[in-house]
Amino acid sequence: MDLRTIWTKNIEQFGPYAALIFEGKEYTNVECDARSSQLAHTLIELGVRPGDRVVVTMPNSPEVVIAFSGVVKAGAVVVPVLPLLQVQELHYIFQDCEPKVVLTAEMLLGKVREAARDLLRSPSVLTLEPSNSPHSLWARIKQAPATLPEVEITDNDAAALLYTSGTTGQPKGVVLTHRNLYANAEAAAEMAKLLQTKSDRVGLGVLPISHAFGFTMMNVALLLGDRVVLLPYFEPKKVLAAIEMYRVTHTAMVPAMFHALCHVPEADRYDTSSLVACVSGSASLPPALAERFQRQFGCLILEGYGLSEAAPIVTATDPTKPIKPGSVGLPLPGVKVAVVDEQGNPLPPNEVGELIVSGPNVFCGYYGKDEETRRALRDGWLYTGDMARIDEDGYVFIVDRKKDVIIRGGFNIYPRDLEELLMSHPDVLEAGVVGVPSPRMGEEVAAYVVIRRGASVTEEELIRFCQEKVAKYKSPRFLKIVGYLPKNLLGKTDKKTLREWANEFVP
Ligand code: ATP
Repeated sequence: MDLRTIWTKNIEQFGPYAALIFEGKEYTNVECDARSSQLAHTLIELGVRPGDRVVVTMPNSPEVVIAFSGVVKAGAVVVPVLPLLQVQELHYIFQDCEPKVVLTAEMLLGKVREAARDLLRSPSVLTLEPSNSPHSLWARIKQAPATLPEVEITDNDAAALLYTSGTTGQPKGVVLTHRNLYANAEAAAEMAKLLQTKSDRVGLGVLPISHAFGFTMMNVALLLGDRVVLLPYFEPKKVLAAIEMYRVTHTAMVPAMFHALCHVPEADRYDTSSLVACVSGSASLPPALAERFQRQFGCLILEGYGLSEAAPIVTATDPTKPIKPGSVGLPLPGVKVAVVDEQGNPLPPNEVGELIVSGPNVFCGYYGKDEETRRALRDGWLYTGDMARIDEDGYVFIVDRKKDVIIRGGFNIYPRDLEELLMSHPDVLEAGVVGVPSPRMGEEVAAYVVIRRGASVTEEELIRFCQEKVAKYKSPRFLKIVGYLPKNLLGKTDKKTLREWANEFVP
């Protein structure tokens, strides 16, 4: 369960092969293993010690994969940070976890250095790219030994600190141990192994690796001996072109990416027949979108559910079992789930309550936030803050986030139900629903809707559409057609900002 040896085990099991393909170049597993060990030695020479935090913020590339492994091989704690974060967001993370080193890309140096200003302890900001820049570690890495350095750590020591996206407050640092991450990747690999492909497994790495979901999919690929084609960022046409060129068999994406691929003009010009399945996670996948994607690209969508605190995958669709639309599948091997009421009592099948999780993947706490840790971890269970139901066959259905539930006149309203209803209207592209404080009802329902180009549906017609389909108390009291919805960097609707928008409806 030691993440430091994941490459060694991959080489022992599968022999040398091209593990990564990036911009037409192949990188073997032997090369990646050696380079990451060299980086580990270099970091140790720079003064990095077990337990020290090292931030890695780079676009997808072989360097980012090597950086992650290098940091954990040095016994340090890797802090993956999305490269698109703004200076202030980066500064918050630096202040919170006090990294000793920040590994970044040449093109991000300016931003990262600005974010590292005015800190109590300044980190060294360095890059891995081959260059003569004084910031580049390249020349030093090449001279370091390519063997795994000896460091004193155990499986229960921290390997990663993942920051949640902060859609419900300030980002929190989730401490994950080697055991947490390894156990989760192993359990996910077990499930992914069941997927039958027509040819050798070729994955497409388009999710940012500097994020829990992308990071884990990379570890799963190593455990399965997959070849992985890496794209630096998501660009719909480039995704389709890569699937055709490398005969990609599977990939993992977030719902916003599935949506974008469905809307690529002349998408059928690309031969995507090698694609067997795509994993969707990180936000709810509207069933209509899933159906459209599966029809258009002739491949399965396997939905998964997770959160950083569970390292991160909790449930996934088992491709060998019946698929239930709208469900996020079954718990991964070794993971237990239950649904409980406000007092923590288990609820019978199909009743909605808070989803709780236990297993070797469950984190040990938030970095420096004991109060939040006590709230999230109770009696060995992780309280996810997600409302869900579990059916009689054990399939999990996520209903909504607990914090997003709208309570109007004492009745619970789940925004996701209304969002899906609005999205079932032929003129609606996207919808976001939030509660607005109301002196009379406690909260009122406000909906923001993006409509298709050229559509002429009005706000009144959409309110009426809802009233015809659901009880009147659930229908939006306020509805506004807008040009876009606020999104976080992974394409999840940013409810915090949407609630700020909805202040316009407060009397
Ligand atoms: P913060 O806690 O700071 O608001 P975050 O919750 O977005 O950030 P993540 O760990 O990135 O942090 O996301 C986990 C959350 O994403 C889950 O708790 C759940 O609400 C949502 N989620 C993940 N997968 C799914 C899914 N398949 N369906 C519905 N929701 C999902």
